[in-house]
Formats: sequence, structure tokens, C-alpha cells
Amino acid sequence: MRNYGHFIGGKHVAGQSGRTADVFQPLDGSVFAKVALATKAEVRAAVEDAKAAQPAWAATNPQRRARVLMKFLELCARDNDKMADLLAREHGKTIPDAKGDIQRGLEVIEFSIGAPQMMKGEYTEGAGPGIDIYSMRQPLGVVAGITPFNFPAMIPLWKAGPAIAAGNAFILKPSERDPGVPLMLAELFIEAGLPPGIFNVVNGDKESVDAVLDDPDIKAVGFVGSTSIAEYVYSRGCANGKRVQCFGGAKNHMIIMPDADMDQAADALIGAGYGSAGERCMAISVAVPVGEEAANRLMERLVPRVESLKIGPSTSADADFGPLVTSQALERVKGYVDIGIKEGAKLVVDGRGFKMQGYENGFYMGGCLFDNVTKEMRIYQEEIFGPVLSVVRAKTYNEALSLANDHEYGNGVAIYTRDGDAARDFAAKVQVGMVGINVPIPVPLAYYTFGGWKRSSFGDLNQHGPDAFRFYTKTKTITSRWPSGIKDGAEFSIPTMG
Ligand code: NAD
Repeated sequence: MRNYGHFIGGKHVAGQSGRTADVFQPLDGSVFAKVALATKAEVRAAVEDAKAAQPAWAATNPQRRARVLMKFLELCARDNDKMADLLAREHGKTIPDAKGDIQRGLEVIEFSIGAPQMMKGEYTEGAGPGIDIYSMRQPLGVVAGITPFNFPAMIPLWKAGPAIAAGNAFILKPSERDPGVPLMLAELFIEAGLPPGIFNVVNGDKESVDAVLDDPDIKAVGFVGSTSIAEYVYSRGCANGKRVQCFGGAKNHMIIMPDADMDQAADALIGAGYGSAGERCMAISVAVPVGEEAANRLMERLVPRVESLKIGPSTSADADFGPLVTSQALERVKGYVDIGIKEGAKLVVDGRGFKMQGYENGFYMGGCLFDNVTKEMRIYQEEIFGPVLSVVRAKTYNEALSLANDHEYGNGVAIYTRDGDAARDFAAKVQVGMVGINVPIPVPLAYYTFGGWKRSSFGDLNQHGPDAFRFYTKTKTITSRWPSGIKDGAEFSIPTMG
């Protein structure tokens, strides 16, 4: 049994609170580790350490800071198998999916190596007589990230990469469900040459989150998690005068037009709906075929595919997806399936009874597929975050578009069609932050920005890409005029004292 503490000032530090949480291994339901839950005083100790370390890091030139990130990439490549194994054991996703989680995080580290370019300011020569104006970007000081369980490598790296590259010291409060990988990242940062105190991990629950939100020396907080907590973190952090950006839950629709290639659409729905057991904020959880005929052709293809999904332990080489993260998550998702049946949706594939032979205590369930879901149902309105896909049949394109537009969440959306005009109209009109055209999970690459609309995000700037550097830096603008200097009265003969 492992015992996880915190990582402060460049080293592992045992927890002082006496409070711990169990970290499970979802593949067999065993307790894999105990994680310490920090007190306010422990958060404060990390902040003080970070505050002391930050000025020297900010004064290190940006190229040198970037070189630490280059070395970090090398070390993550060296330890990729070990990290993916740990991630899969604590989260439950399969090893190839865990490698994707790490990779999408490292891509933001690659982007952050461009810090020297991203930190450049602007310059106007001769803005007035003898006056020049220029701007510079400076780090904020100590900043923080609070992250969810579902991408324990990717999201911490999305936050930490730009923050550190910009010259800040960073406090990570990762999910208490899978803190092993964040602690491993901290060790690798130190090995890569990051000075102690620049990347810290404080494990904990609400107490540590509140301590972060109330700490006067933490200048910015980036949060990712469920919408109710995102809204809470946003309002408390803003009330304390911080910069806050919070990314919340989702209900991503995929519209399938009658002219779509139905085999491709079914493939996309299987991967995007059930990959990672549906525990992705960009998972497709609602399929909207347009027209009865398209709906019937889609269902013909989907049903056998959902019935034959391969569920297995995270370490198995050929599983499509693994167990859910905890037994509570499993019960919650099964509870939603019960609700859907009561609400009158038609459960065409029922995965609730699935048991994994040899792993009977693991948190597994099979894929579930609902047909005839309507917008009044809770299973349509709420985020289920499990391997459950709902099919809502729309009569027209406009009805399908309104479904996505009227939903309270607006993270991702996709349209499958061969018609450029429909796709173009959809991209222009849909009220969702990230749009896929014949692409089911349109997660933008690191050099673009990631963020949803409506109740999927709070705050104005997105994650990664140029927005991340804006979020973790402040702009200073200098207007300068020099009185006439030596050039006007230049002496051409050798100065003498007499
Ligand atoms: P969560 O909201 O339970 O936890 C997120 C973080 O908040 C964790 O660090 C947790 O310790 C902390 N937290 C939990 N309860 C708290 C409380 N009462 N007060 C203060 N802090 C608290 O989310 P989760 O279950 O870990 O992650 C899944 C959710 O994250 C889903 O809703 C998913 O859609 C969302 N998500 C969103 C994005 C995005 O970019 N929009 C990305 C990934 C996940």
C-alpha cells in the first residue's frame, strides 16, 4: 500500500492533518494507496515556499526556462510506460488511452517551450513627439491549478506548462482519486532542473481548495471539474480578487444528417461515446439522427456494436474501455440508467449487469444505449459521465441544431454530413465552444485554445494556446520620453578639465 503526501519545495512531504482518502485501483476494486488531505496551514506552507522561489525563476531568461521543459519531455518519454501503468491503475482507463492522456498533456508542454515568443510585448516608436510606447508580459507570481480525476496527466500539464514557462510558481491541487501521476510529474520536473518550489503538489479535498481560493498570495486559479464546483470556485475566487477560469461539465451532441456515411458515424459514436467508459468531458453522450430513416439506419449499426464492446481490466491489451473510477461513480451511472427507464426512454442495450470474470470487485459496467430520449428527461439534461449513449430523434436539421443550442452545456459538438453547406451553417450557428465536422471529439491541438460555452465554463480566457499565456501573465505598458541627451550637445574635441 502506497502513502501519498504532498510535494513541496522540491521534495515529498508527509501530510500533517491525519486525514486521508482511499485511492482505489478500479480494475479490481482494491485500495491502491492512501492520500493525505491537506489543511489550510499546509497549503499556506506550500504557498510561502513557492513565493520565495518564484522571483529567481522569473528572472531566469525564458529560453532557459524553456530548456527545463525540453528536458522534462525527454524524461516523460523515458518513463512513459511506468506513468501510463500508474495512470491506468488509479483511473481505470486502458493503457493506450492513458498514453493518450499523457501525450495530450505533453503537447501543451511542447507549446509552452515557445514561451520566449509568447512573452514578447509590443512596441510603437514615435507614438508622440519623442515618445515611445511598449508593453511587456510579466508573470503573476504564485498561481494554482485545481484538476479533475478524469485526465490526471493531461489537465495538470495544461495548467502547469504555460504557468511555469511564463515564470510563475505553480501549486497543483489534483484530484484525490488519482494523485499518483501528478506526484510523479513533480519528481520529473525536479529531475529536469526545475528549481524547488516552482511546481508543488498539495493533495486534498474541499478544505485545501478553499485554502487555495482564500490565500492572498495566489494570484490566479485555473479549475477543471464538474459544473457545480466550477461555479463555486469561480465565485469564491473572484470574490477574493483573483483571476479565475473554471471549466465544467458537458453534454456533447453529435448530429447525424441523412446524407452522412452511417458506418463512419456509428464508428465515431462508439469511440466517442464509450472510450474511457464515457468519463471524458468531450465524450459524445447524445446522438441526434435527423429523420426517421437516418435514425433507423444508425440504430441498426449501433446496437450490435454496443452489444459487442470489449470491457476489460485497464492493463488488458485489447479492452475497448475499462472500469469506472469508483464504486460511487458506478452506482451513480447505473442510477441514471434506472431513471431513464422510469422516464420512458427505450433501453435497447443494457450493460448494468456486466461482471468482469476474475475481477468481480472491479467497478465495471457494460455499454448502455437509449433510444427515444426526449429533451424533458433528466438523462438528457444532466451529465451522466459513464458509458451511456442517448439517441434523440430529430425531424429536421433545425430541430437538431436547437437541441444543441438550447442545452445548458456547450462544451463540444459534432455534425456528420457530406454536405458542405449544412456543415458551414452548423459551424456558424451552433452555440458551443468546440465544433467537429465529421470529427467526433474536436479537442483543439495545443496551439489553439480549449474551452466550452454556456455552463461548461466560467471566465473569459480558454485553456492552453495563446490564452494560457494571457491568463498566467499580466501586461505592463510603458510610455517613455527622454529629455534631450548627450547627442544634442555632443562634444567633438577631447574633454578637458580646465
Ligand atoms: P469534481 O468537480 O468532483 O472535482 C474537481 C476538483 O474539485 C477536484 O480537485 C476535487 O478535489 C475538487 N472538489 C470536489 N468537490 C469539491 C467541493 N465541494 N469544494 C471544493 N472543491 C471540490 O470533478 P471530477 O469528478 O473530478 O471530474 C469530472 C468532471 O470534470 C466532469 O463534470 C467533467 O465534465 C469535468 N471535466 C471538464 C473538463 C473541461 O475542460 N470542461 C475537462 C475534464 C473534466
